[in-house]
Amino acid sequence: MPARTGAEYLAGLEDGREVWFEGSRVDCVAEHPILGRMARTLAGLYDLQRDPAHQDELTYPSPSTGQPVGLSFLQTRSVEDLERRRRAFTVWADYSGGILGRTPDYLNAILAGCASSSWFFAQNGPEYPGRIVSYYEWCREHDLCATHAFVDPQSNRARTQTEQADPGVPLHIAGESGQGLVVSGARMLATLAPYSDELMVFPSPSRTHSTDAPRYAFAFSIPVATPGLRFICRESFDLGRSNFDHPLASRFEEMDAVAIFDEVVVPWERVFLKGDVLLCNRLFRETPAFMHGIHQFTAKNLAKAELLLGVTSLVAEAIGRTDLPAYQSLLGEMVDAIETLRAYLRTAEVDAVTDPNGYFHPNPDTMSTARNFFPRVYPRLVEILQLVGSSGLMATPTERDLERGELAEDIDRYYQSATLMGRDRVQLFRLAWDLACSSFAGRQVLYERFFAGDPQTLLAGRFASYDRAALVERVRALLGRG
Ligand SMILES: Cc1cc2nc3c(=O)[nH]c(=O)nc-3n(C[C@H](O)[C@H](O)[C@H](O)COP(=O)(O)OP(=O)(O)OC[C@H]3O[C@@H](n4cnc5c(N)ncnc54)[C@H](O)[C@@H]3O)c2cc1C
Repeated sequence: MPARTGAEYLAGLEDGREVWFEGSRVDCVAEHPILGRMARTLAGLYDLQRDPAHQDELTYPSPSTGQPVGLSFLQTRSVEDLERRRRAFTVWADYSGGILGRTPDYLNAILAGCASSSWFFAQNGPEYPGRIVSYYEWCREHDLCATHAFVDPQSNRARTQTEQADPGVPLHIAGESGQGLVVSGARMLATLAPYSDELMVFPSPSRTHSTDAPRYAFAFSIPVATPGLRFICRESFDLGRSNFDHPLASRFEEMDAVAIFDEVVVPWERVFLKGDVLLCNRLFRETPAFMHGIHQFTAKNLAKAELLLGVTSLVAEAIGRTDLPAYQSLLGEMVDAIETLRAYLRTAEVDAVTDPNGYFHPNPDTMSTARNFFPRVYPRLVEILQLVGSSGLMATPTERDLERGELAEDIDRYYQSATLMGRDRVQLFRLAWDLACSSFAGRQVLYERFFAGDPQTLLAGRFASYDRAALVERVRALLGRG
């Protein structure tokens, strides 16, 4: 099957999945008055793959059938492959100005990385490498959209899984049957869950679990519509308002949900690791699979930083502040963030590492630094937009106000700016508000702080694993103690 169209993607959502939203079970995600809007946004992304203007840059011939499949599934074998795949990431990232954190290309790239690292899975048993490769090929050939749930519920982080007051809360192996592994418990959090076809339940790239807990150690993947699996969504930040009023939340509300498993049977061919805590802890440290995901979201982060600079520049121009050195230096900080992200991408590609099987992987040092950079810089970019926009971010009447004839004159006159008439200024500032002040904007900041893992642990891990021997020797020599 070639890369899917939007209509094919939407049809796939009608599979009886158990999604709960605001106290009701959702009949059909694609037709839900609130959730359906994001489903249509994702359908638009899929349509780009079959759009003659983009098909060549978003697809490549399937190694199995020759039909065009999503380029994010490519197993990269050269620097040119990495560059080409990044251009595809960028097309999808630009579709939302980087606001969609979890476009399907993110997990497609990680899954391709897992398949290229099938040797790792062989350490758990001879049946495992074939399973991960077959699963990768299945997703590629059916162009499936996946989410992941890597983290246990935040019950008591001071305790291990086995020490929890209720050790049945973290997702665990509850039994085995001829059909597969039986799992119960919960995982948080799965962004995009209502819109995904598949749920990948893998070990967290940023957590280390104690070795006494083999029943919590596994990697598997199941369809979102598996019996016994249910998702409880948080409240939506899409309030059903117009694109004018909520320019981002009305289109790009990708939703987060807790995944609850009630004796869910995972077919054996979908179990990729089982019962080996050390292997699970090492999966994303010893394989380059997650680096492919960072490659995707660094391209997304670049698009997002560019959106912020674009909006902040227009806001600064609108209020006549672009000549002030203080404003210029704030905007200059944004430029530096953009160019740093661009440099990370470039370096990761040019300095790619190769493996004995001929695969090329984005440079892990550069990608790890890129991953730790954005959680710190994104809140600052948002803060700069708040500093530049200031009270203008609250002078944001709604579309209904603009439609009231008796307010038209007021809005034209009192909302005018140096560069824009009232209506256009309101439209721009509503976008700035949805980027920097709305509840949707708050979730974006939280997402960037945490979605790629716990930032404290990640930074500490950088220090612990970084090869400092040579530089420490140089300092010792400088001190005359070499
Ligand atoms: C919007 C959003 C979407 C997400 N989507 C997904 C998803 O789709 N799939 C998925 O698997 N996960 C997802 N996550 C979860 C993400 O992986 C976790 O948030 C992340 O791993 C951190 O874990 P935690 O939130 O449980 O924080 P905790 O581990 O409970 O940590 C809480 C706080 O303590 C700090 N901390 C931890 N250890 C220390 C220490 N030793 N010293 C000092 N401070 C410390 C942490 O940095 C953090 O600030 C999402 C998170 C968010 C916010």
